[in-house]
Amino acid sequence: MELDVSKAFVTPAKAFPFEATVTLPPQRVVGETITFDPVELSGTYCMYEDNVIRLEGTLTTVAHGECALCMQPAQEPVSVSFAETFRRDADELESDSFRYEGKTLPLDHMTLTLAMLELPMRFECKEGCEGSAELQAWKKNNPVSSNDEGAPTQHPFEALRSLLNEEPEQ
Ligand SMILES: [Zn+2]
Repeated sequence: MELDVSKAFVTPAKAFPFEATVTLPPQRVVGETITFDPVELSGTYCMYEDNVIRLEGTLTTVAHGECALCMQPAQEPVSVSFAETFRRDADELESDSFRYEGKTLPLDHMTLTLAMLELPMRFECKEGCEGSAELQAWKKNNPVSSNDEGAPTQHPFEALRSLLNEEPEQ
């Protein structure tokens, strides 16, 4: 996606509103594939120095990944405000600025950078997800509380629970 900013060259130091939609390709992140809904950008652009353009606004999208517990599809809204500088012939590896040529700003690289930084640490399909069938089966076979009446020793959590129950009520 290229944003036409030619108006900024005609009238420097004036902020012009813009809206843009950027489509990001799927991203592989530590063995997982993350996809994004079309990313909506809106805000202003302004040339505040010779050939230096500031792009400010908000970015919103929805990121799709895999629930960390049950491996089912999960999604997370992403919303971030940004203020980025574009310089003609900027070296993106050396400076904080993004590079542009002519009178258009290439938005894909900036959008991908911002969206990836806002990804959650892990996806969860819903709060309190029970986890995969494998995880549930494991929990069933390894119950926290023991029903075995003949067990010579109490489960440590059982001991803790009875201890807590003996606490006088306030
Ligand atoms: Zn889940």
